[in-house]
Amino acid sequence: MTAQDTLRPVFTETFPSTMDTGILYVSIPYRTCGHLCCCGCGHEVITPISTAQWSIAYDGENASLTPSIGNWALPCRSHYWIRHGHVQWSRHYSAAEIAQNRERDRHLLAQNTEEHRPRPLARLRRHLQSWRR
Ligand SMILES: [Zn+2]
Repeated sequence: MTAQDTLRPVFTETFPSTMDTGILYVSIPYRTCGHLCCCGCGHEVITPISTAQWSIAYDGENASLTPSIGNWALPCRSHYWIRHGHVQWSRHYSAAEIAQNRERDRHLLAQNTEEHRPRPLARLRRHLQSWRR
């Protein structure tokens, strides 16, 4: 079990069946990043890229992920930031803070889904209106 201090981005379409340590796999087609937990526990951490989830910044050499990676569901419960390819460890959250974070994430995700839902319906309505005339 060796903790990682750095993550090197590798752009790929799909992730390998076995991820390598120290690599941040970035799939643009699937809007997803993946890496092995930086604490060294060997668990895969999948971070979907979307307005309600994570965003990635690539400076041509290194990558940053925002917000932080909180592996609450893993036994290690590690929490860190990936900034310019460097792993910056953050403090462990309490059970209450984890619950609060999860609630906020759920809320954001629901909001995001709501925003995207009316579009096809609006299109459909317009279509029906023109058909009636
Ligand atoms: Zn871990």
